[in-house]
Amino acid sequence: MGTLNRRDFLSSAAASAALGTLVSSTFGIQDSPAIDGPIAISSANGLRATAKAVEMVSQGADTLDAVIAGVNIVEEDPNDMSVGYGGLPNEEGIVELDSCVMHGPTCEAGAVAAIRNIKTPSRVAQLVMQRTDHVMIVGEGALRFARAHGFAETNLLTDKARKAWLRWKEQHSDSDDWIPAEKSGFGDSRSDVASKLPFTYGTITCSVLAPNGQMSGVTTTSGLSYKIPGRIGDSPIIGAGLFVDNEVGAAGATGRGEAVIKICGSHTVVEAMRHGMSPEEACLHAIKQIAKTTKIKRLRRKDGKPNFDVKMYALSKEGQFGAASIWSGAKFAVYEGGRNRLEDCAHLYTRDS
Ligand code: ASP
Repeated sequence: MGTLNRRDFLSSAAASAALGTLVSSTFGIQDSPAIDGPIAISSANGLRATAKAVEMVSQGADTLDAVIAGVNIVEEDPNDMSVGYGGLPNEEGIVELDSCVMHGPTCEAGAVAAIRNIKTPSRVAQLVMQRTDHVMIVGEGALRFARAHGFAETNLLTDKARKAWLRWKEQHSDSDDWIPAEKSGFGDSRSDVASKLPFTYGTITCSVLAPNGQMSGVTTTSGLSYKIPGRIGDSPIIGAGLFVDNEVGAAGATGRGEAVIKICGSHTVVEAMRHGMSPEEACLHAIKQIAKTTKIKRLRRKDGKPNFDVKMYALSKEGQFGAASIWSGAKFAVYEGGRNRLEDCAHLYTRDS
């Protein structure tokens, strides 16, 4: 990965200026170098989203409608416990969802955060973009806005997620009044698969590039499990959990949101691409910044490396794509060249075990 020198910067600036002259009248859409077909990139839980987004874009759908329809599949799936319906709840057992969207052609964005009872926060975020003069609405206001637009309310806490939350609640302290089943003398709940799920993070992000050069992206999540009510991560924050610049590319993030917010992760990735880095280099650049700025002891291992993971995903205007994580072993989903598949993320550190 190279740092940008003055000559690279000037030539990329000159290239952007030249491309700027190709802007068309309707939306400020610029022509794009030819790509074979639509390309979509997503987090590893997003294979169905990339397939749907590519299918819709191929049929002429708007790029934002396409990625939102893609992530809706995962938002509505009770088996993905990191997104939408079935997501793990906050510390009080209530599911709170975060999402943002960005529409490349119009440079518009919308977001909702800490919204309850609505299965598809990404669609509410799109309406914030389309039907208000705001970019972000949170909490009760977001729910009222969704109600005004006719969204059905649902209890988002599935039985599986409730059991996982209950187990966390009963186990996380010895000095409160909650007793895990195995210590109660009334049975052992360890056989419950849901209650043993180890993860506390999870999200879906998905971006697409259409052959006409239009791009859009979406990120949606139930966020950090068992969070303090009202906690908002990076996912609904434009520039952190998602950023799209129709003239450069799109980026999204998953993992520890607090770390992503502090380096404006997705914006950092898109800016690095603007200045000449490939998507993978740009993701690694942001990941390195996270590692470098993680200074407090409780977030570092003994060797100084972060004790958490973050993954960044990027798709360039030219149809290049890539992803990077702090720790090895991560994958991302990509639909490109007619093939939908998981690929390895580049990484900063190799997991010891
Ligand atoms: N980034 C999300 C958050 O911090 C969670 C995740 O992606 O794992 O809320």
